[in-house]
Amino acid sequence: MSVRVRFGPSPTGELHMGSVRTALFDWLFARHHGGEFLVRIEDTDQTRSVAGAEERILEGLRWMGLDWDEGPDIGGPHGPYRQSERLPLYEVAAERLLASGRAYRCACPPERVKQVREEAQRRKRPPGYDARCRDLAPADLANEIAAQDGRSVVRFRSPREGATVVPDALRGDVVFENRLLDDHVLLKEDGFPTYHLASVVDDHAMEISHVFRGDEWLSSAPRHLLLYEALGYEPPVFIHQPVILGPDKGKLSKRHGATSVSAYAEQGYLPEALINFLALLGWSKDDRTTKMSVAEIIEAFDIDRMGVTPVTFDQTRLDAMNADFLRELGPEEFFRRAAPFLERALPEDVARPLDLTPLLPLAPLIQERVKRLAEFAEYVDFFFLPGPLDYPNAELMGKGFRDNPAGALTAVEGAIAALKAVEPWTAEAIEAALRGLADRLALRAGVVFTPLRVAVTGKRIAPPLFETLAVLGRARAVERLNVAAERLARPDD
Ligand code: GLU
Repeated sequence: MSVRVRFGPSPTGELHMGSVRTALFDWLFARHHGGEFLVRIEDTDQTRSVAGAEERILEGLRWMGLDWDEGPDIGGPHGPYRQSERLPLYEVAAERLLASGRAYRCACPPERVKQVREEAQRRKRPPGYDARCRDLAPADLANEIAAQDGRSVVRFRSPREGATVVPDALRGDVVFENRLLDDHVLLKEDGFPTYHLASVVDDHAMEISHVFRGDEWLSSAPRHLLLYEALGYEPPVFIHQPVILGPDKGKLSKRHGATSVSAYAEQGYLPEALINFLALLGWSKDDRTTKMSVAEIIEAFDIDRMGVTPVTFDQTRLDAMNADFLRELGPEEFFRRAAPFLERALPEDVARPLDLTPLLPLAPLIQERVKRLAEFAEYVDFFFLPGPLDYPNAELMGKGFRDNPAGALTAVEGAIAALKAVEPWTAEAIEAALRGLADRLALRAGVVFTPLRVAVTGKRIAPPLFETLAVLGRARAVERLNVAAERLARPDD
């Protein structure tokens, strides 16, 4: 059987972690089996569609590297790939179901349907439609529809007895009592299909072999199976993925913080780290392996290692994984990925394009320290900032010289003299000179280095001092130390 899977996002907002995990599993499965992965926009609920959402969702998939073989932007042999552009197909299917008696028209106005639902809830009955129009004589129904100015919907004639078995690739057969199914709507008053009709018609028309989706859709699956049967279609294989929980064990949602792909991209997570992390939410290669490249995951991915137990979105684990992937990048690649974050963080008057090449020796030292690329600018912005740096004098003194500007001044002036004499200008020679200074002052190195670090970087947390000075250059280092010395000499300004 050839593998064809689809990702069917509704364009209602951002691409969230739950949906992107589904897209990822679709994609991994297709790539593992040499099949096709397609994107289909499920925009049949016009009231929920949000302008621009489709583009943002596609953008998120692109950023993740989940490329598709057919989709709304690139077309393909089964297009169009937006459900709102496929209305005639759903209408034909609905007409077929009407003709075979598996569906019927319903003239009940929305207010009545709502009342019926509320009444059922009050009586603790299944909250569905009471099937009032199901067995109306054709003439009576025609009258009712006329009385509604021609408005009607098409409903599925659900069986009242027996059970529907949903074969799920992970759970085995899941049995649903038919008496609990109501006569759900297939075609709405506005001519748009519901999710149920549209997804069945399209999965068939697009020759979808496997449907991966969140387990919140499991309860819809009997409706879908009955529709496949009524239309004479072969159903695909269903794989309902386990729910993703937040740290509080509630279903993962916005209240757990950043849950959209774009928010993760903006903070500087690497797509390959996110892929590794998300792949493990419901799948594993074996009982040990946690860190994998995308190629390794594709190679190993299959349904037999998927599970149904709820999975927890562990942000700490994602951070650690991201830090790991960041550390393993080559220095040039690291800078290539980090550069846009620095561009964004630096003020507009800094000349562009930025040249990061002189900083390459520092890359591994920074890579050891950052967890997310958004932190990168913090470590290097001072190389690019023109003019004097902005920091409070207290920072300059640190704990070692607290309330002791004269002491800090001695350290800074000593460093200026020592650095002027360093030869050659290398991290090693700089280190020797500054450690010599600390010895001469009979102070701990940390105490002496704090004012120097703040003077040249503007902050206390920065890449290691000697390497930083080596890259910054003697002239700029001395210039910044002079500014610091002036500030310490006039501590009350
Ligand atoms: N459009 C549905 C959603 O937004 C897709 C469900 C499915 O894949 O069948 O989640």
